[in-house]
Amino acid sequence: MQALMMDRPLLISSLIDFAAKYHSDTEIVSRTVEGPIHRYTWKDAGARSKQVAQALSNKLGVTLGDRIATLAWNGYRHLELYYGVSGMGAILHTINPRLFPEQIVYIAEHAEDKVIFLDLTFVPLLEAVADKLTSVEAFVIMTDEDHMPDTSLPNVLCYETLIGDQSGDYDWPEFDENTASSLCYTSGTTGNPKGALYGHRSTVLHSYCVCTVDGLGLGSHDVVLPVVPMFHANAWGIVYAAAMCGAKMVMPGAAMDGASIYELLDSEKVTLSLGVPTVWLMLLNHLQETGDKLPHMDRTVIGGSAAPRSMIEAFQFNYDVTVVHAWGMTEMSPLGTTGMLRPKHAGLSAEQKVDIQVKQGAAVYNVDMKIVDDDGNAQPHDGVAFGNLLVRGPWIASGYFKGEGGDVLQDGWFPTGDVATMDPDGYMQITDRSKDVIKSGGEWISSIDLENEAVGCPGVAEAAVIGIYHPKWDERPLLVVVRSEGSDVGKDEILAYLEGKIAKWWMPDDVQFVDELPHTATGKLQKVTIREQFKDYVLPTASDAAE
Ligand code: ADP
Repeated sequence: MQALMMDRPLLISSLIDFAAKYHSDTEIVSRTVEGPIHRYTWKDAGARSKQVAQALSNKLGVTLGDRIATLAWNGYRHLELYYGVSGMGAILHTINPRLFPEQIVYIAEHAEDKVIFLDLTFVPLLEAVADKLTSVEAFVIMTDEDHMPDTSLPNVLCYETLIGDQSGDYDWPEFDENTASSLCYTSGTTGNPKGALYGHRSTVLHSYCVCTVDGLGLGSHDVVLPVVPMFHANAWGIVYAAAMCGAKMVMPGAAMDGASIYELLDSEKVTLSLGVPTVWLMLLNHLQETGDKLPHMDRTVIGGSAAPRSMIEAFQFNYDVTVVHAWGMTEMSPLGTTGMLRPKHAGLSAEQKVDIQVKQGAAVYNVDMKIVDDDGNAQPHDGVAFGNLLVRGPWIASGYFKGEGGDVLQDGWFPTGDVATMDPDGYMQITDRSKDVIKSGGEWISSIDLENEAVGCPGVAEAAVIGIYHPKWDERPLLVVVRSEGSDVGKDEILAYLEGKIAKWWMPDDVQFVDELPHTATGKLQKVTIREQFKDYVLPTASDAAE
């Protein structure tokens, strides 16, 4: 028997329509690339998104399924493109401007982008590669006529002029909710970047999750500041979810230093902010220098890389801001787990609570998870056994754009490439990337755990651990260290520091010192390059195998 409920498609346009209609005077505040703070309302954003859709269709001949790219910071014009492009049935391709120029060319060509919208900041970047972008018919600079630069970009248009003469009298088209809405390429630490292709339905369902109390708890009571960029997994879904619940939005533009972020948190009375550990480190340093506090802020979401214990403690103990540790990936829209505490944790001490919060958190509804060994056997949820982490759910990729990477699913599950433990309550803890885990004598050693411990050693600024071939054990850990400025910390001191903090057989076989470590465009350690640097290196313990 079929249900007697209306079959209304879940479309991204319905989110902006809702916010424009029912939260019409709630503000969206942006620090612009041009300088000043810009403010308007969800009603204004709704009207201008429709002007964007009209201009795309009337002036640029954009139709359903065309890829329209952005190279832009978090700001109101970028938000209008999120809704205008996807709302009219085209696909918003958010390009990460921190990628190498060759990678940007690769993904724009792979996506066959028809138009690129760019912030003023990125004019030189695109000028340098414009002749290699064969599918692009127009470059739209996201500014007004007064700020238009002299540029060698071909077919260049001004955003405000493009949309300014459109009436805004426009009905969003209705189509199948499974239509593709947006495209985001993973950084591709190995091989070429691969495109995660989101849909209208998956995006709306993901937004519901962000708005649930045990998701990220976003609501109309919040003032939300995503420091996480809109080119990084859709700013973790915040642009959509904020419209779904009518939250006030604050966007930082290009200024992500501690002082600039603090200024917005304070002046706009931000209650919830989201970002990667690096930006929070900059904010915490700023607060320490100035003695400023965070009286309005209720919680901060930390994800993208593991939130260090010291960071969770600083926010909670010094500033009374609750940390929500979250894990996910571009291919998961991105939310997978959140580290909310449960009623049973209420009686724990502050430190014991942090013991739980350093884990990446428990699955949100609609994300199913399991950990398996290399033969696919499920591992126990005892908080100790590691396994490859597999996920499935309606906002998780079933494959990559244009079939890149082939059939990625394993029996209907997406392999995250992370290695994790799960405790009996379902809290997951990442111990490694599967390609980085060190396999020593058939047992797994977590490179991340070793790195986290090593950076606690005085004089160590940054640490990376990689597996090096060993004739007896297959692999043994090598610790690669960048010393803090002025430090002359040595191998023996570091190994002595680690003693007692890690299992004996995890102890690195050697320590090597380097001036700097390579990072990806999203700030993560580039282990492939480090392994390449040490490919001819022989461990001092290698000869033990002969014994
Ligand atoms: P990119 O590196 O391309 O930006 P993603 O943002 O999709 O890619 O990165 C996803 C990966 O980042 C995850 O698979 C995981 O390895 C890591 N990650 C994300 N959040 C966390 C977290 N809270 N703790 C540890 N690792 C995390």
